[in-house]
Amino acid sequence: MIRLSCEQDRVAVLRIQSEVLAAASAFLRRKGFLEILPVLLSPMTDPLHHETYSSVVDYYGVPYQLTKSMIFHKQIALRTLPRIFCFSPNVRMEPAERAAAGRYLAEFVQLDLEVRDATRAEVLGLGERLLVAVLEAVLENCGEDLARLGRDLRVPRIPFERIPYAEAAARHGEPFDDALSRTLSEPAWVIDFPRPIREFYDREDPARPDVLLDMDLVYPQGFGEALSGGQREHEPKRIRDRLRRDGIPEARFAAYLKIADRGLPRSAGFGIGIERLTRFIAGLERIEDARLFAKVPGDTAAL
Ligand code: AMP
Ligand code: MG
Repeated sequence: MIRLSCEQDRVAVLRIQSEVLAAASAFLRRKGFLEILPVLLSPMTDPLHHETYSSVVDYYGVPYQLTKSMIFHKQIALRTLPRIFCFSPNVRMEPAERAAAGRYLAEFVQLDLEVRDATRAEVLGLGERLLVAVLEAVLENCGEDLARLGRDLRVPRIPFERIPYAEAAARHGEPFDDALSRTLSEPAWVIDFPRPIREFYDREDPARPDVLLDMDLVYPQGFGEALSGGQREHEPKRIRDRLRRDGIPEARFAAYLKIADRGLPRSAGFGIGIERLTRFIAGLERIEDARLFAKVPGDTAAL
């Protein structure tokens, strides 16, 4: 893993990042996806499963939040469109201790997508093909940039390994992202997370209580988590049940539940962090080298 040593290195990273954005977008358009515009402010956003600093904004006297992820807006958007993607800016003012890991920013962009009527298996396959398409495009169009950064990038073989969460936990302890990632030479999926450690919107397997139909993609070589996604809860009764079990008051998601009562489509999807993807492709030690105006958690001097 490298640190940037001059402006020309930075140019190489940004050229790679621009290629990533273009290649991902071209791939998804070829697959029939429509790009939608991001939502930055809403009365509801991803509750997440860890604490962040509050990002509440006064919206005409009503508390709105800066987007942590567009999960609920994606589900609602599928009432209108069958396959969507968005380069979605997210603000998550993560605890300052997270800065040391080298893969957290307080502001980042997710390529967030969702597919009506899809299963986890389908979006898992889509995720593999998306990553391969992006890596191939970077290899084809950014060879000089990779060479400048000394990055030996290989296109992984499809399908990626699929590791049940319980197996990874038994092998590496918990949390295992870093330990698992260091043992991998190609990206691998972790599937079937336990319900209590994930958000309420990932669908619980009706055949296996407390096991979710969700997944993470983990980069090899110690780069850690690449994306999270899964099949979604869309039935109002099940959503209410999950809220109750997570101790989240229904009032917090009243508007969402009202729409769910009118009907949310079945769906599956995922969000892949653009800066983390850039970091992996360019072989960077730290995520703050993977974008301009990076905001490392706790750094209040950032522009
Ligand atoms: P999540 O649904 O919370 O897993 O977020 C989706 C993806 O966004 C993750 O897999 C990462 O690639 C990326 N991501 C999440 N949080 C951050 C962060 N604080 N900084 C940079 N990327 C992030
Ligand atoms: Mg995640």
